[in-house]
Amino acid sequence: MSATYNFCAGPAMLPAEVMQKAQKELLDWNGQGVSVMEVSHRSKEFIALTEQAEADIRELMAIPANYHVLFMHGGGRGQFAAVVNNFLGSKGKALYLVDGSWSSAAVDEAVKLAGTEQIDILNIVNKDNNINSISLPDLSAIDQDYRYVHYCPNETVDGIEIFEELNAPWPIVADMSSNIMSRKIDVSRYGLIYAGAQKNIGPSGLSIVIINDDLLALPQQPQASIMDYRLAVKHDSMYNTPPTFAWYLAAEVFKWLKSNGGVAAMEAINQQKAQLLYAFIDSCDFYESRVANANRSQMNVTFYLKDESLNEQFIRQAKEAGLVALKGHRSVGGMRASIYNAMPIEGVEALVNFMKQFAQRNA
Ligand SMILES: *Cc1c(COP(=O)(O)O)cnc(C)c1O
Repeated sequence: MSATYNFCAGPAMLPAEVMQKAQKELLDWNGQGVSVMEVSHRSKEFIALTEQAEADIRELMAIPANYHVLFMHGGGRGQFAAVVNNFLGSKGKALYLVDGSWSSAAVDEAVKLAGTEQIDILNIVNKDNNINSISLPDLSAIDQDYRYVHYCPNETVDGIEIFEELNAPWPIVADMSSNIMSRKIDVSRYGLIYAGAQKNIGPSGLSIVIINDDLLALPQQPQASIMDYRLAVKHDSMYNTPPTFAWYLAAEVFKWLKSNGGVAAMEAINQQKAQLLYAFIDSCDFYESRVANANRSQMNVTFYLKDESLNEQFIRQAKEAGLVALKGHRSVGGMRASIYNAMPIEGVEALVNFMKQFAQRNA
């Protein structure tokens, strides 16, 4: 059988080497004769795993010492709620920038929990001739004492990415669920970064939170203890039983990243992969991108067949060619190729070849 390339947006493919290692040691982890799933999270072996994972992510992302790294439950959406409950108290206000589906979902959760009085919303997407682009506003001109500004630098559904640095007079909270560790960033510019694990880190359910210690002092709302950042810090992310298997796999992905040149190497190859695909889309009359050049996501490449009546055929034949999960999100239609760190360039080459042939066959 020829290779299968999985373009799913999430849960997404994991590096083959990581999966093979997990398979090999599934029943006997660390020479203990039991699975990593079956040991206490408080055992010295598991604690050693978590310490290594933290050291590795700190090294990979160059996380400064005044930040904590938390391994929490509840994926990306769990953090939509946690951010509000941990930072707003009963009077604090926050600004939410909307650049696509996920930042909009974050607004819904924030408004549900804090009410419209405490949440200000600013749309930053322009739609011009069916092409989406972003213009970052000058936030220093806003005379408000926000506790934080929230945004999503990579909109997974829409295929929109913001590469430009956001400047803000308040702490920046960023949902990096789908682009964490895909390119270098300066962590010190952020108050808090969070990511559901299932795109670029590991299995779903786990979320990574990187938080500047200053934010731990903000007044909180009463909330579920398992979502409380201060408790998570105090208990080393083990206030309750953490998702241990997901944590183990994330730790293996960090090791894989390190042995493959780290985030800088990923960034170079991710640029190459995205460039290959977008250049082909632009060169072929048969397909179109609806995102402006400057905001085309390097992780989630959305594109459309100009003749949308061929969509089903495209998806079916791609699947037969071993290229799976290319269907766009139901809210936007079209196609989406998610090409996270784990996707080898061969997968993108195979996709481009298929797209070329499909266009010729149906010209
Ligand atoms: C997938 C995703 C989420 C939601 O993650 P869940 O783990 O399903 O809650 C949030 N934000 C972004 C940017 C995502 O890509």
